Amino acid sequence: MAKSLYIDGSWQDATGGSFETIDPATANAIEEVGNASEADVDAAVAAARAALSKQEWAGLLPVQRAHLLFKLADAIEAHAEDLARLETLDQGQPLGISRSVSVAGAAEHFRYYAGWVTKIQGTTNPVSFPDTLHYTRREPVGVNALVTPWNFPLMILAWKLAPALATGNTVVIKPSEVTPLTSIRLVQLAEEVGFPAGVINLVTGGGDVGALLSSHMDVDHLSYTGSTAVGRIITKASADSNLKRLTLELGGKAPSIIAADANIDAAVGGNLMGGTLNSGQVCAAYTRFYVDKKREQEFVDKLSGGLSGLTLGSGLDESSQLGPLVSEKHIGHVERLVRTGVDEGASLVTGGNRTGENGYFFEPTLFTGVTDEMTIIREEIFGPVLAVTTYDDADELDALIARANDSQYGLAATIWTQDIATSQRLANGIKAGAVFVNMPPIPDMAAPWGGYKASGWGREMGPWAIDAYTEVKSVWLHY
Ligand code: NAD
Repeated sequence: MAKSLYIDGSWQDATGGSFETIDPATANAIEEVGNASEADVDAAVAAARAALSKQEWAGLLPVQRAHLLFKLADAIEAHAEDLARLETLDQGQPLGISRSVSVAGAAEHFRYYAGWVTKIQGTTNPVSFPDTLHYTRREPVGVNALVTPWNFPLMILAWKLAPALATGNTVVIKPSEVTPLTSIRLVQLAEEVGFPAGVINLVTGGGDVGALLSSHMDVDHLSYTGSTAVGRIITKASADSNLKRLTLELGGKAPSIIAADANIDAAVGGNLMGGTLNSGQVCAAYTRFYVDKKREQEFVDKLSGGLSGLTLGSGLDESSQLGPLVSEKHIGHVERLVRTGVDEGASLVTGGNRTGENGYFFEPTLFTGVTDEMTIIREEIFGPVLAVTTYDDADELDALIARANDSQYGLAATIWTQDIATSQRLANGIKAGAVFVNMPPIPDMAAPWGGYKASGWGREMGPWAIDAYTEVKSVWLHY
């Protein structure tokens, strides 16, 4: 078993046992990974605290910190193909997605925040006191735990690690136990380019290791991406320990509204991508479709044709368009919800079954006749399962907005229309962190990413992530 804990600049064996990470295309074990114990987690947090206190990172000149972040982006690109293959092996996503979304997205994120390092500013403020200078400083929050999910492990780690480092913080990374391999590889690359010891620490393991971080008295901020259920547990743990700051990127159930005037071919193409990217294992995946009754037949026929034409296979096979789901446990969850859809009376148009001899493959699935109370339109499925419902009265946009908002989630939404007024009224009315008009749900580091309601707290990307990883200090100077 390779050493998978990185603490204070050295690779170490975990003292809490080990677990296997699995190739979801074959169900075979890839390798053993260490499970961190409480002592390991304490050591990692202590190393991050010591590096913070010694100013080994925040104390560098901004140009020096920026230089290392640029070097890490270059190192990711230099190892792009190996990283993409490793992501596909561990997570299952098709190689084209690993290359163009996961690896390219991670490199660009580090480059983007490398640019920020020399531009993080305070303000001078016109306080109404005589002979007083008032200004603000942006200071690192401190020790940050970065807890990530399995669906885009490398890219989502980059969303957190790049701004955390750009702002002078130190970190303890806890990747998902389902897909830890590219996070380990990224930390190896960070070591090779010369990040000081203790600035970046890594502990591998399951939810118990994440729980140790969320209740830790010496973690100042925990940035978490994952399910809403675990987000609630983390929130309680923070409240019951040191009230650490939380950034929460949680679940989603994005509505897709297809208006009567939509370009149906564009809507089918965009929703096919938006609904099945990474086999639907995307927090912003388009999964519940509100289609104007007049266009339902055409939309459903074309969408179901597109879904059944997708090529399923191992992500390592260049011809695969849809890879496996990530694990036995997860495919069981998807199968259960599909059965519930049938039991509750939705009509299965295509798909609905597990497929393939090995691995965790699930047919792309389309339901029609779905009503607003059904489980498949309310719960996050996180698989290639799309549910179509309809609306009759295009003049009643407020009623449509209310149906789209009838969800605990509010991460993303999409609208397909050629009418500017319709797009604006819907975009303004829908409670979601990101509304895409006539396009698939693609984040960009210059635009904020995060959710309303039970989809999360705070925003990642752009200057919003600078806020998440800094404290604003107010300095008053009387002269
Ligand atoms: P998960 O909640 O099962 O696990 C996420 C991480 O939390 C893992 O590292 C896990 O080990 C850890 N964890 C588990 N139990 C814990 C506990 N009690 N305390 C602390 N940490 C714990 O989520 P997942 O299944 O890996 O990811 C899928 C979910 O992530 C979906 O709900 C999806 O919508 C969400 N997600 C959201 C975004 C977003 O930007 N909002 C992006 C990607 C994924």
